[in-house]
Amino acid sequence: MNDPQQLRLEMALQLLKQAGAMLPEAQPGSPEWLQGLIDALCDLSSRDALTGLVNRRSFEMALAREVDRVTRTGEPALLLVLDIDHFKAVNDSYGHGAGDQVIKAVAGALSQTVRPMDLVARIGGEEFAIILPNCPVSFGEAVAERLRERVAGMVVPVGSGQSVSTTISIGGAFAPQWVRSSPLLWLERADRQLYRAKAEGRNRACLEGHVDSLVSAEEKGLLFAATQQDSE
Ligand code: GH3
Ligand code: MG
Ligand code: MG
Repeated sequence: MNDPQQLRLEMALQLLKQAGAMLPEAQPGSPEWLQGLIDALCDLSSRDALTGLVNRRSFEMALAREVDRVTRTGEPALLLVLDIDHFKAVNDSYGHGAGDQVIKAVAGALSQTVRPMDLVARIGGEEFAIILPNCPVSFGEAVAERLRERVAGMVVPVGSGQSVSTTISIGGAFAPQWVRSSPLLWLERADRQLYRAKAEGRNRACLEGHVDSLVSAEEKGLLFAATQQDSE
């Protein structure tokens, strides 16, 4: 590139300012400054504006990376999907702004309840997902239960002296170890458990049973295909 000054960067700078992001400190136009600008834009495009959590796009990339890691290392990893219960009623009774406050509070509570290495994402309106790398199977229930309790115990001020309490339903599935699953299949498994938690009465966590016996035909097919490729 000959002259960085010729780049049209106004829009990028405006977006970053509007999001309250830190602008690079290096000399404007220098390669360091441009790299800082690119990093800040990448960070902005991977986050959800309301909660600051990782957004769906970035979550999907992280999930694919985690599948790779589990396949390589055989370490157990847990995926949780979480959905606020009866959230429409919050919007209907207190207004959309109050609903947003509740979503933010739940996001904060989830982030504070897991380890720094765990990735908390907002993957839909009032739906979240958490990737927990290196999470032993015996800890799964306890982690999910801690998250459920934390949200159920929250009181969220929503203005005009009013406050809202809410609950979440949680579905969870471990990645099948040593088997190359697909991110989509893993997410579907966790989702199935979330539906079960909703159907069984909400404000509860349902985790898939033991993983080894639950490797689906599709996943066995993926493994078989990978083995064949390896031997070619
Ligand atoms: P369930 O227990 O079955 O999950 O019931 P629910 O009422 O939570 O049902 P559902 O998941 O269908 O409703 C989600 C609602 O969330 C619908 C939509 O209006 C609202 N919503 C989605 N995104 C946002 C948002 O960003 N802010 C607010 N305030 N509301 C949102
Ligand atoms: Mg929902
Ligand atoms: Mg809901």
